[in-house]
Amino acid sequence: MPFLTLDVKWNLVNIDKLTPAEPDSFRWHFKVKCTNCGETKDSWHYIIMNEQMEVPGSRGSAHLVEKCKLCQRVNTLTLLDDSVKPYSIEKNEQFQPILKMDCRGIEPFDFDPRTGWRGEGPESGAPFEDIDLNEKEWSDYDEKIQEAVEINSFECRFSHARA
Ligand code: ZN
Repeated sequence: MPFLTLDVKWNLVNIDKLTPAEPDSFRWHFKVKCTNCGETKDSWHYIIMNEQMEVPGSRGSAHLVEKCKLCQRVNTLTLLDDSVKPYSIEKNEQFQPILKMDCRGIEPFDFDPRTGWRGEGPESGAPFEDIDLNEKEWSDYDEKIQEAVEINSFECRFSHARA
C-alpha cells in the first residue's frame, strides 16, 4: 500500500515534544513528484489536515488533488487522521515519524517546517509557543533553568510504511 511517513531529525536542547501547535490547521509544506512519470516540481505546496478537495470522477476526497501536466494522471495525497506525532527528545538526533499519508501517484520529496510549532520543557513541561522554524533552527533562553533552549540540525526523509 502506498503509505509514506514523514520522518524528521532534530537536535533538541532543553525542549521536548516538538509538534505543530494546531495540528488541524497546520500548513505542511511539501515539494512533490509524480511517481508515474517522475515529474518533479520545485514549488512548495501546503496541505492542511482539515481542508480536503473532491477527487474528480469519484466520490472521494483528498488533501491534495493534482493533475500531472506531463502524464495527465490525476494524483492524490491524503493525510491520515491522528497520525501527527510529536518529536521526542528520547530519540534525539534520530529520525522519528511525525506524519503519515496515503500517496496515490504523487509523493512528497522535501518538507519545509516553516512556522506554527510548539514544544515543552523536558523536566518542567512548561510550554514554548510560536516557534518559528523558517530558518530550520530556533533558540531561546529558559529563565527557570537558566539554560539555552535550542532546536537545530534538521533533516527530513520519507519512508514507506504499513497502514
Ligand atoms: Zn506524471
